[in-house]
Amino acid sequence: MVDIFVSDRLKSVYPAFKTFIEQELYPEESKLLKLPFYEAAKILDVKREKAKKLGLWAPYLAETEGSMGLTMLEFAQVSELMATSPFGHYVFNCQAPDIGNIELLHKHASAALQEQYLKPLMKGEIRSCFSMTEPEFAGSNPVLMGTTARIEGNEWVIDGHKWFTTAADGAAFAVVMAVTNPGASPYERASMIIVPNNTPGFKLVRNIPIMGEAGEGHHSHAEILYTNCRVPLTNLVGKEGAGFQLAQERLGPGRIHHCMRWIGICERAFDMMCRRALERDMGDGSKLGSKQTIQNWIAESRAEINAARYMVLHTALQLDKLGAKAVRNEISTIKFFVADILQKVLDRSIQTHGALGLTDDTPLSFWYRHERGARIYDGPDEVHKASLARSILKKYEGI
Ligand SMILES: Cc1cc2nc3c(=O)[nH]c(=O)nc-3n(C[C@H](O)[C@H](O)[C@H](O)COP(=O)(O)OP(=O)(O)OC[C@H]3O[C@@H](n4cnc5c(N)ncnc54)[C@H](O)[C@@H]3O)c2cc1C
Repeated sequence: MVDIFVSDRLKSVYPAFKTFIEQELYPEESKLLKLPFYEAAKILDVKREKAKKLGLWAPYLAETEGSMGLTMLEFAQVSELMATSPFGHYVFNCQAPDIGNIELLHKHASAALQEQYLKPLMKGEIRSCFSMTEPEFAGSNPVLMGTTARIEGNEWVIDGHKWFTTAADGAAFAVVMAVTNPGASPYERASMIIVPNNTPGFKLVRNIPIMGEAGEGHHSHAEILYTNCRVPLTNLVGKEGAGFQLAQERLGPGRIHHCMRWIGICERAFDMMCRRALERDMGDGSKLGSKQTIQNWIAESRAEINAARYMVLHTALQLDKLGAKAVRNEISTIKFFVADILQKVLDRSIQTHGALGLTDDTPLSFWYRHERGARIYDGPDEVHKASLARSILKKYEGI
């Protein structure tokens, strides 16, 4: 924790999360990492119940929901801690994409949709997914989209082809982005509609193999066909045509969540790198940590993680004070800056571990596979850099 960003409330709740993660999750990791998700989930569900009983469930939810109501700044620091285990976010019901959908439905869904979908999601009784990207169109330009939803009677009829719908396998519903008014201006063409995954016409084609692993359940990314998929008109989230506005709203805080998660991963990989450097005997009377290359990696990683954490926490603080729109540039900055540091620190830690770093005996290989996408999802880094640079250059115009 960084003193200047720590509230009294955070100080009081932080140790309980730390103890839980260290005692309940770290010792189980090596076993859990070798199990398919649904097998691991049987063990994780017991942990989830335990977290609930201890009052550690979904701490970002409001106090009126029986939770802690942490601010973004407070939650960011707890989220970093959760991320030090590959199972942390799931166990406390803070996992993407559910956390983003919870925030979305909380703000924009009707009372009936909240009753049917939001409540069980908050309780962890169901999971959800977010279905926007399509294989035929460049996801970097989100207004390009082939999926349509047309009105017939009192139903939306959805047709389209999506992929990389994370965690669709086993989810109860998808929030689908579809064009509802092709004649409108590009950013007012699409809407968000809830589609239960058991709707006729919803077909999960496959869990897409990624770096040799198709995964399952929460640890998967699906290709989905929506064919003549009919849902009630009342399944619309927010207003018709507001899809992109809601997506922006959903993604802003989501990027802070990701960045703090990445810092948590960096911190654990860094800790493992240091321990290995001290333990590994090189046979000539020296330890690995005496080598200058390893020392450079340790020093550079420490500096980079610290810098990233300050930037993200400062952005979270500003977001709490001013709202997501005011910190758009800061959010773009941390997205590409932290994703890059994550890749570097993970790679150095793996290299320090030698062959062991590639095995599933440590969480490093899991993160290496699962987090290469960090530079691509939620807007590829290049798009964030371009957007930040344009905004900076705008200020120079007319000088
Ligand atoms: C692990 C993972 C999980 C995901 N989960 C979801 C999900 O749950 N739901 C969902 O809807 N989508 C999800 N996605 C999809 C993701 O949002 C898209 O992959 C992303 O928007 C990029 O789109 P694309 O893959 O079509 O790449 P493209 O748009 O084809 O871009 C390819 C590359 O071109 C470069 N590029 C693009 N634009 C520019 C530019 N302006 N300047 C310079 N270079 C540029 C970038 O390097 C980029 O990586 C996920 C992706 C990954 C990898």
